[in-house]
Amino acid sequence: AETIRLLSSSQVITSVVSVVKELIENSLDAGATNIDIKLENYGFNKIEVRDNGNGIKVADVPVMAIKHYTSKINSSEDLERLTTYGFRGEALGSICSVSEVLITTKTDADDISTQYALDSNGHVASQKPSHLGQGTTVTVLKLFKNLPVRKQFYSTNRKCKEELKKVQDLLTAYGIIKPDLRITLTHNKAVIWQKTRVSDHKMACMSVLGTAVMGSMVPFQHCCEDPEINLSGFLPKAESDSSLTSLSSSERSFVFINNRPVHQKEILKESVLFAVENVLKSLYGPLPATVPGEMDKTDVNSEDMFVHRTEQTDVVVNEMGPSGNDDR
Ligand code: ADP
Ligand code: MG
Repeated sequence: AETIRLLSSSQVITSVVSVVKELIENSLDAGATNIDIKLENYGFNKIEVRDNGNGIKVADVPVMAIKHYTSKINSSEDLERLTTYGFRGEALGSICSVSEVLITTKTDADDISTQYALDSNGHVASQKPSHLGQGTTVTVLKLFKNLPVRKQFYSTNRKCKEELKKVQDLLTAYGIIKPDLRITLTHNKAVIWQKTRVSDHKMACMSVLGTAVMGSMVPFQHCCEDPEINLSGFLPKAESDSSLTSLSSSERSFVFINNRPVHQKEILKESVLFAVENVLKSLYGPLPATVPGEMDKTDVNSEDMFVHRTEQTDVVVNEMGPSGNDDR
């Protein structure tokens, strides 16, 4: 059973960035407007995510990190109108089985906050009072301590730096979809990335990307056949002057599905593919004449064209997450 648990956990929690993603999503689900992320040794010694959200109710504490526990779903109807990122109740339990976890939390009903140390099964092993204010702080120590091969994979400086870059890209994406969220990222005690609170998505883009980069991008908003799916984001202009920025065109592509940033290549959903193609058509004109970059115009079917375009702009679509509230 221990092995099975470890195996399934290591599929949810594959890297530092996957821990950060799960913890940030929990903070957002808890209504946080402020998230501070602290990493030590690229996250392998310590990942700490502190939020000012609702906190965890005392009654939920014993089960919060038990696999498949979630406070977010009460009925199958809830599943159909998901408004939270989390719903599987898998993240905290999985993180507990591959690291050492401390959770400090306080709701507005609590007088003071409490720090809980969790064991590898997600049970509370000990607790003590803490001075922290309302919200939740999750501290993840010694990530992959029991998965030496996984740890070894990240042992080079290059891999570590890549991982840090991925964390920054993740924060950039959440920073853009949540204009009113304040975020800081600290690595080994130095603040290496931050975003202040701003009024809208465009301001959020400017604040994380800078005006020069923004000028080389086009915003889009697209309604799909399925009214439940909303596609939006920013793509680089076809003729954009790459000297303005050190970012490549793929780094200037931001695609959100129902307000969730899309950044993995694995799952491609037909309807979304279709929608992205339409967006690209409206931005770049009819296919294939104005496709940026070189392409053989003869005998390509629309699927090829799409693939070509995805390579150009690196619009990678997948991971159909639960819907966030689109507050645009
Ligand atoms: P899920 O997000 O799918 O519900 P998780 O394992 O990520 O599952 O979290 C389990 C539960 O712990 C959540 O349902 C929530 O009740 C609680 N929780 C976790 N992180 C936070 C947080 N930052 N603020 C408030 N509650 C949290
Ligand atoms: Mg979660």
